[in-house]
Amino acid sequence: MYYIVEHKYLDDVLSVIQLFYFGEKIKQIYDVIDDNIVIKSSIENDISICRIYKNKEEIVYKENSLKDIEKDTFSNEKARIIKLTVYEAIQKIRPLNMPWGILTGVRPTKKINEMLEQGFTERDIKNILKDKYLATDEKIDLAIDIAKIEKNILKNNNNNKISIYLGIPFCPTRCVYCSFPSFNLNSYTKKVDLYLDCLEKEILAMKDYVNSFEIESIYIGGGTPTSLNENQFYRFLKMIDDNFKKPLIEYTIEAGRADTITRNKLKTMKDFNATRISINPQTMNDKTLKLIGRNHLEKDFLNAFYLAREEGHNNINTDIILGLTDENSNDVLYTMDKIYTLKPESLTVHTLALKRASRLNENIDDFNPSSFYEMEKMINITREYARKMDMYPYYMYRQKNMIGNFENVGYCKDNLECFYNIQIMEEKQTIISFGAGATSKFYFEDTNLIKRAFNVKSVDDYINRIDEMIQRKREIIEEESK
Ligand code: SF4
Repeated sequence: MYYIVEHKYLDDVLSVIQLFYFGEKIKQIYDVIDDNIVIKSSIENDISICRIYKNKEEIVYKENSLKDIEKDTFSNEKARIIKLTVYEAIQKIRPLNMPWGILTGVRPTKKINEMLEQGFTERDIKNILKDKYLATDEKIDLAIDIAKIEKNILKNNNNNKISIYLGIPFCPTRCVYCSFPSFNLNSYTKKVDLYLDCLEKEILAMKDYVNSFEIESIYIGGGTPTSLNENQFYRFLKMIDDNFKKPLIEYTIEAGRADTITRNKLKTMKDFNATRISINPQTMNDKTLKLIGRNHLEKDFLNAFYLAREEGHNNINTDIILGLTDENSNDVLYTMDKIYTLKPESLTVHTLALKRASRLNENIDDFNPSSFYEMEKMINITREYARKMDMYPYYMYRQKNMIGNFENVGYCKDNLECFYNIQIMEEKQTIISFGAGATSKFYFEDTNLIKRAFNVKSVDDYINRIDEMIQRKREIIEEESK
């Protein structure tokens, strides 16, 4: 499939085309060619026009006026109308109603919270999302419900409260869909201690600054933090315990991969007062687990989960992904049935997203994505099971290139929202981050601005340039204290 964009809103047009052509090769060209489908977006005399050609013959024409544009609440109004024109044109040949309409590139709950602050009523927000962005009632209600829960947590934020993130960028193997900073542990075994040395250096350099605030939450992610061996894992958690002030509202550790979990590591987490851990099956189907490159089977996940319960972990999250290679709604039913019996405290449901840096994207020709309707079925199954487990949705985010333009939703039992997840999504609290690939976000309440300090992604670069990573944070801190 080809597309032509004759104005500066190329990314906006592409984001709409990708909704309908997920997983297909989409290529930009400059003249209509004799090929199956060419989508062309142009602006002519203040009119947004989308034409679709099939073998050079125009088969769809759609236009919307760009005159007298009002300032829009969500984004650039001109971009919105151009997206709308392309969306309506493509719908003529692919008659699908996307759940979020033309809402691409925005976090619905973040925007809703901003609009609530600006005094918009729920009804105003619903009307805008429905009439201007074509989102469905179901998704609008979901986003508003979540925004209200988040607002209740965010209202306690102030300039003196922060959170901390630490990343361990190693995994036993790399999952096909992964785009996180994650390096194969086997190739990096000799560098793990050196990595921890650098992490310690970064922590020591920042601890006085960090401890001058009230630390509300710590989140340890990656990679897979539990891929460290037992001694390294103990050293890492002790390092955190020795250097950061307590008490915390929440201390989450991702123990994502069942193949990295041992009783001792679970004990260590408990000893250092982790309040929430995440053990992630992604799917309970062994066949899929092999296909997606994970090193464990369903039984390993079950064992790890039971072990965690035995060691007293009473707040466990499980992540699953919908749309994995060759899976359909029956597979999701199987997965959810199993999770239901485990009674986790929270469940995070991801929709598969095609990330540029993933192996899946590199081998896109071999990938047969689930259909839009199958995805919808799978999402409904997970929502129903979450309800059966007495969970409600409390956070949500969307990514580029998700199958069917759906969303990722975090569900939890009463009052067990992950505080950090809400802060990272809504960006209303400073988060100081440590480790390769970690991004610190300094949030300034007075101006509602965020400044970011990025750490390099590669483990080798992080080790070699640790002083520079520290300096990047210091520069922001010094600049703001002037
Ligand atoms: S476990 Fe997570 S971080 Fe590690 S390879 Fe898989 S998706 Fe990436």
